[in-house]
Amino acid sequence: MSEQAKVDPYVGKPWEHPERNRPMVRVRGLVKRFGLFEAVAGVDLDVYRGEIFSLLGGSGCGKTTLLRMLAGLEEPSEGRVEIDGEDVTDRPAYDRPVNMMFQSYALFPHMTVAGNVAFGLKRDGVRGTELDDRVADALAQLELTDFAARKPNQLSGGQRQRAALARAIVKRPKILLLDEPLGALDKRLRESAQYRLMKLADDTGITMIVVTHDQEEAMVLSTRAAVMDKGRVKQIGTPEGLYEKPCSRFVAEFLGNISLFDGRVTAVRDGVAELAVEGMETPLFAAAGEASGGMRGAVAVRPEKVRIAREGSAPPKLVNRLKGTVEGLAYLGDVTSYRVRTQQGHLVEVTRANSETGAIREVDWDDRVEIWFEPANALLLGAD
Ligand code: ATP
Repeated sequence: MSEQAKVDPYVGKPWEHPERNRPMVRVRGLVKRFGLFEAVAGVDLDVYRGEIFSLLGGSGCGKTTLLRMLAGLEEPSEGRVEIDGEDVTDRPAYDRPVNMMFQSYALFPHMTVAGNVAFGLKRDGVRGTELDDRVADALAQLELTDFAARKPNQLSGGQRQRAALARAIVKRPKILLLDEPLGALDKRLRESAQYRLMKLADDTGITMIVVTHDQEEAMVLSTRAAVMDKGRVKQIGTPEGLYEKPCSRFVAEFLGNISLFDGRVTAVRDGVAELAVEGMETPLFAAAGEASGGMRGAVAVRPEKVRIAREGSAPPKLVNRLKGTVEGLAYLGDVTSYRVRTQQGHLVEVTRANSETGAIREVDWDDRVEIWFEPANALLLGAD
């Protein structure tokens, strides 16, 4: 059996079986220094065939520099890049089975959409009916057939983005690198563009690596994402894994809202940690994770995991029960979001699904309330 045939296509979760699946992209010890400054400070990454893998992080965390090293547009200071089993670290950009779509799209303004899409193929010597067919296929895939004869300045923003995507996939790269691919689109267009990108990955089998600073976008698009900070990967996981089981405060706070209660772990029993919080008479309990007795840490809980009721109407015998006052309220249609100031001064975010019309304004501004959450729905995070 050839090496190629042994590689599973993207089905299930290949990253859960690294012994059986060779990654499409393997990065080891990648470093990029600009003078004394390390923009990428030692990154290891495995991305599997057919994944949409996001590099997620705030401005300046090194995600674009990492993407450019994968493309061959930036030379690493240290480390190796492997694509489909081959070491490409020393290969120039044009000799890698990779295409990059830039945030600016970089379409040729004087060429038609079809001309832009055909450009790379022509340069590779593709001619005649093969050229025509491949351009037509790429245009059809991105629903651009009717716009083939237009110039980029005669297109809407969404159409330009699709033209750039058609140009990027027409050469059938193994890997497509996308730098903020939806950054120039408005919110409504972004949603349809996200689903189009997911369908494109599915239809073509192209492995996509996407740079984004938008956590919601990464959650929608990605099979997995790497959360980056200061040139390092803080955590790699599925959207659900990163959201539900962040390994640090940084990741927990980067993805969505979370309320934190700092304290000291006083006991760990059956996977549940007990945390003493300054000013609180009763301890809080949370899934222990790596916690051990004596360590400083925080109980972290997501807004949708916290329940809320007017004071006196909460069920009895609850753990993780806190009294407070509603300091903020936002009705968002599907959910109502509350900001509750506890008696100890913590600000806790609570969301409540508006699944029953009558219950919407049960809890109002300035109400005295009780909030509570299940230990299994909260996490103990270390102090870093
Ligand atoms: P953004 O979302 O703002 O684009 P990013 O995470 O993509 O941020 P990078 O563009 O990778 O960040 O830049 C990482 C760091 O490296 C930044 O501090 C940046 O100023 C620096 N940097 C990038 N390119 C160079 C360069 N050619 N020379 C010097 N410093 C650079």
